[in-house]
Amino acid sequence: MPRRTKIITTLGPATDQYDKMYALIEAGANIMRINLSHGSHDEHRKRIELAMSCAKELNKTIGILLDLQGPKIRIAKFQNPEGILLKDGDTFFLDANCDKHAGNQTEVGLDYPELPQEVSAGDQLLLDDGRIVMSVVGVKGSRIECRVDNGGRLTNNKGLNRKGGGLSAPSLTEKDINDIDFIATQPVDYVALSFPREAADIHEARRLLRQAGSQAQIVAKIERAEAITNIDELIDAADALMVARGDLGVEIGFAELPGVQKHIINRARERDKPVITATQMMESMIHNSIPTRAEVSDAANAILDGTDAVMLSAETATGDYPVKVVSTLNEICLAAERHRAPRLMVPETNEKYDRHDKAIAMAAMTIASHVPIKAIVALTESGSTPLWMSRIRSGIPIYALSRDPSTCRRVTLYRGVYPVEFDLTLHKIWEISRQALALLVKQGILQEGDKVIVTKGDVLGVVGHTNALKILTAQAKLD
Ligand code: PGA
Ligand code: MN
Repeated sequence: MPRRTKIITTLGPATDQYDKMYALIEAGANIMRINLSHGSHDEHRKRIELAMSCAKELNKTIGILLDLQGPKIRIAKFQNPEGILLKDGDTFFLDANCDKHAGNQTEVGLDYPELPQEVSAGDQLLLDDGRIVMSVVGVKGSRIECRVDNGGRLTNNKGLNRKGGGLSAPSLTEKDINDIDFIATQPVDYVALSFPREAADIHEARRLLRQAGSQAQIVAKIERAEAITNIDELIDAADALMVARGDLGVEIGFAELPGVQKHIINRARERDKPVITATQMMESMIHNSIPTRAEVSDAANAILDGTDAVMLSAETATGDYPVKVVSTLNEICLAAERHRAPRLMVPETNEKYDRHDKAIAMAAMTIASHVPIKAIVALTESGSTPLWMSRIRSGIPIYALSRDPSTCRRVTLYRGVYPVEFDLTLHKIWEISRQALALLVKQGILQEGDKVIVTKGDVLGVVGHTNALKILTAQAKLD
């Protein structure tokens, strides 16, 4: 059985060599993420090129996800590239007017000049995903006086959150808008929007993307307290979700994370959206060649929760074992999926489907739960039919056959869905299903005699026209 859960790997200096990138894809990376918080457009372009050329060489389809920085509030830089060591009880100043490169043992600059106006005495500030905690003692002009509650090493450009959330930075910064223009020049399938608060943030990002000429899908990163309150409208507005546990854990307190993760995953699936679980999945593998048992359990539990994808950040971007971590996660996914062979569960529902293609998708899953079926083959233009199918928990692989390479790349995110390029316009209309099955047999995906369900439309090549479903037996040749 192919792995159902998808693996997203963040690219960075540790994956820049050809053989590293090649091995990463070979080990099972499905989607390559670029974090726009780091690096130049030129570096990003080279990474995308390298990933695409390695995928081509391996004859694999990968998706590309670009992650906008958003209004992540960061400290500026220190004079010493090693940063500073803060001790509990130290007094430390965050100063919006401090030179951006002149941080020292007592103060550092800020990239969000409004911060001093938005915090007040008693607030807790969490730096570097909460590794360092400071309390605000008072604010004078541009200077925030803090007392260190939990010290440690603080280095350049680390993120800063306020416990409880509520900082008012807009969701799209000038940098993001500039990055959107860059994105429109690249083969980008998904754009992750950082720190959205409400549906309007997603609509605005989509408008800017379309205006720039990008058709990329939008991933809403759930990473602030307000996003949990507005979760349903964010799910409906976005094309996909990310449980961004780094910032979210800081804002809502990390003890809340496991419950909230389950809630977001369930909600997203119920509302027909794919969902990514991100951050610190294999954190210790940044420097170790094996994960902790707790990390293994965490990743496996995200899979059992029903996540579409698990994401690696620094583990692959800057870690010592970028390829090993992917093969380790691959193994964990396979074991977790095997452990709980999913029963096919089509919910009994009175829901009225407003689209016929959704009705066909659900009917296919219902039939698959009553007839022994090896696979579902969805001939699809936009990828909607396989997405609906994959919202139903089933161990049955769903092959998304499309002539549109961007649809093939998009479905790389969907749990249990595998893209295959297939141009149905090259075949006679009455032969298409059998041609599709013959191709899958030829590629070794199906064996002769396998029973499968095929879904397709009468009007070929049009989005939203899936209106038919067949049960067929795979053959290598047309008779
Ligand atoms: P980041 O987002 O890596 O861009 O901060 C993920 C998270 O916050 O978990
Ligand atoms: Mn984040």
